[in-house]
Amino acid sequence: MARYNFKETESKWQSYWDKNETFKVTEDPEREKYYVLEMFPYPSGRIHMGHVRNYTLGDVVARYKKAQGFNVLHPMGWDAFGLPAENAAMDAGVHPGKWTYKNIEDMRAQLKTMGLSYDWDREIATCDPDYYKHEQKMFLDFLKNDLVYRKESWVNWDPVENTVLANEQVVDGCGWRSGAPVERRKLNQWFLKITDYAEDLRVALQSLDRWPEKVRIMQENWIGKSEGMRLTWDLVDRDDSLEVYTTRPDTLFGASFCAISANHPLATELAENNTELQAFVEECNKMGTSEEAIEKAEKKGINTGLKVKHPLDDSWELPVYVANFVLMEYGTGAIFGCPSGDQRDLDFARKYDLPVVPVVAPKDMDKPEEFSIENEAFTDDGVMINSDFMTGMSVAEAKKAIFAKCAQMNIGEKETNYRLRDWGVSRQRYWGCPIPIIHCGDCGIVEVPAEDLPVSLPEDVTFDKPGNPLDHHPTWKHVDCPKCGKAAVRETDTFDTFFESSWYFARYCSPTADNSIDKAAADYWMSVDQYIGGVEHAVLHLLYSRFFTRALKKCGYLSADEPFAGLLTQGMICHETYKDADGNWMFPSDAIAGNDGKLVHKNDGRPVDVGASIKMSKSKKNVVDPELIISTYGADTARLFMLSDSPPERDLEWTDSGVDGAWRYLNRLWRLITEPKAPYAGKDTAQPANLSADAQKLRSQVHKTIMAVTDDLAKFHFNKAVARLRELTNALGNLDGVEGDDSWVLREGYEYLVRLLAPMTPHISAELWAELGHDSILCEVDWPVADDSLLVEDTVILPIQINGKRRDQLEVAKDLDPKEVEKLALASEKVQAALDGKPAKKVIVVPNRIINVVA
Ligand SMILES: [Zn+2]
Repeated sequence: MARYNFKETESKWQSYWDKNETFKVTEDPEREKYYVLEMFPYPSGRIHMGHVRNYTLGDVVARYKKAQGFNVLHPMGWDAFGLPAENAAMDAGVHPGKWTYKNIEDMRAQLKTMGLSYDWDREIATCDPDYYKHEQKMFLDFLKNDLVYRKESWVNWDPVENTVLANEQVVDGCGWRSGAPVERRKLNQWFLKITDYAEDLRVALQSLDRWPEKVRIMQENWIGKSEGMRLTWDLVDRDDSLEVYTTRPDTLFGASFCAISANHPLATELAENNTELQAFVEECNKMGTSEEAIEKAEKKGINTGLKVKHPLDDSWELPVYVANFVLMEYGTGAIFGCPSGDQRDLDFARKYDLPVVPVVAPKDMDKPEEFSIENEAFTDDGVMINSDFMTGMSVAEAKKAIFAKCAQMNIGEKETNYRLRDWGVSRQRYWGCPIPIIHCGDCGIVEVPAEDLPVSLPEDVTFDKPGNPLDHHPTWKHVDCPKCGKAAVRETDTFDTFFESSWYFARYCSPTADNSIDKAAADYWMSVDQYIGGVEHAVLHLLYSRFFTRALKKCGYLSADEPFAGLLTQGMICHETYKDADGNWMFPSDAIAGNDGKLVHKNDGRPVDVGASIKMSKSKKNVVDPELIISTYGADTARLFMLSDSPPERDLEWTDSGVDGAWRYLNRLWRLITEPKAPYAGKDTAQPANLSADAQKLRSQVHKTIMAVTDDLAKFHFNKAVARLRELTNALGNLDGVEGDDSWVLREGYEYLVRLLAPMTPHISAELWAELGHDSILCEVDWPVADDSLLVEDTVILPIQINGKRRDQLEVAKDLDPKEVEKLALASEKVQAALDGKPAKKVIVVPNRIINVVA
């Protein structure tokens, strides 16, 4: 028989599934549903190994659940708006839409070679007006439900290109294209009120018990709830005061300055008559808007000359600075600095020669009052010093005391704050969903009437000018006001692309419905039972989706509380890095083994420098093209290797030998079943009455494997499942060549083996199922169930100890009468030799565990 022809087999089954709509599903209230979803890709044009791993994991879950009788929804689509399409338009002059749809076509073809069990009828592309028109309607509903507002907000501005930059377009503080230092500018933008749900989003994390703990912690930290206090500091020689939010009011006696944001109203006021301050404010505004930029920058400030009175002591005056690390968007835009308890404040105090008074000392000090601070702030728990009525208290006690004191003096009150900010969704970009708003000189902000939706993107745009093509399109933005009929202009901003990915999972439930989400369909399919994707989306995408689900529920679209009941975050794919003799990165496919076995460049034979194994990335060229692997070894091999190497949540080390091992295993399996050394029993042969002991043992292994693999797949322990199935394959292969009744066990074993492998290697499994004589289609066959009677261990091995020393062991029937066990133990030659002819003083049998002989 011919060697396994994966090309023929894989394309045969792929077209069979396609033609027979094997994975097409509809709502069926009689059946339990299971919704498995992988994070949909950005259509960059080619799939990479990260995609292969992600979709393989999802496919195994989908096929396994289908075999278990669930009505499985497993869709795929495209997160199709975004910057790369606009960059392609600028670089290659191709329209973003054309570029995107071509990429989708290419990637769909690539995905189809992987044999993934998608219901392709549900495919969506978010750049399709049939998709984004729905989110324009959602936005208007959010407006009606008080979930949206408009306000001035800072953006990154490229002064050379005259355009707004996304955070990812700011590289080391400069525009990625122009290289010019980025400035901050204020623009009117739309915000979604995610902060309304801050507490709910935080508390509900506890209900997500099938999410990785680390993701829940990351979300919790991002939401960043803090219990603090808002304190009023009176300004000296002025009638007004400074509101300061702090989470550490217990350190009030260590205060040595106050600092306000460059955008604080007081700073704006003072800068009017102070050119030095004005210049400093401008410098702060060039820092970029990201927290990272703030964190990295050198901490600087400028003394305003103003002073504030300490809230607990009128005679104590402190200077007020404008500082570059205080953000208007956080708290009240004003802080008090306690240098001894905060490294940032300490650096600032040393720079500007401000007092450093320690107020918390380590717990175990003999003389805490002598504790001093040099160049490192003390941030641990400890005992209060230099703090008047709080001295001697623990930090927790001091917090309680200061809260009570300030309440009594009426100078401050408790306040809960969140780090979470509202979600700014306006982007000054062409390739996104237009925001359905019209600006009228008379009426102000006017919603686009529902009957005029969608507001579609114009096709005829040019990218030769900097800025947003929608803005300088000759006609698109000019419309009549829907209210008064006068000339007005459209909003030219588009939505942040996270908008599209915040509800696509709900659209899959009814992808062609006229309304955005068919409620009955969504009520049946939602929530997603298992979501699978990269941990890099642990915060924004998952948090926005959780918020959107709540907002959609409020507007009557959905009933689900949470979008994703279960979450699996897969690890990265790593590969060794290679550099050529000139120090340039090179592709692994350009490295071949030289004469001495060491790697050389395939073109010039010069030595290759092998570096550490790190995440596959284009820039380091340590990538392997999935298309090449699939065309060389087949999809089943690629899938099997992805699953067998390590648990899904861990990083996977890509090696040629690993791929080769998977390939050789599948070929061996093929030969074992298609070219058995002796024929196994025919299909539907009745189970023989008598089996040899070896055959019985093998049967028991087969059924134990069924049980264990079922459990492994349920827990996503795919690598364990693969290891067990390879073990079973070896056991079956070793018994190959048996004759008579025992050949029945071989057939049973191979049939179960193929069924258990099917979710992981669906093509070869389907073909072998047919080779075993079955007319049924394997992915329609139910998941195997182990025969309980074969799972019982019928014998146990008991160690025999004489005076505490192990001398022998005994294999006996489980639960054998202890008297019988004692007899057998004493009959052991080794025990007899150890007793040296004398009778044992005592024999203690612990049933099914151990035998102790006292000599
Ligand atoms: Zn008007």
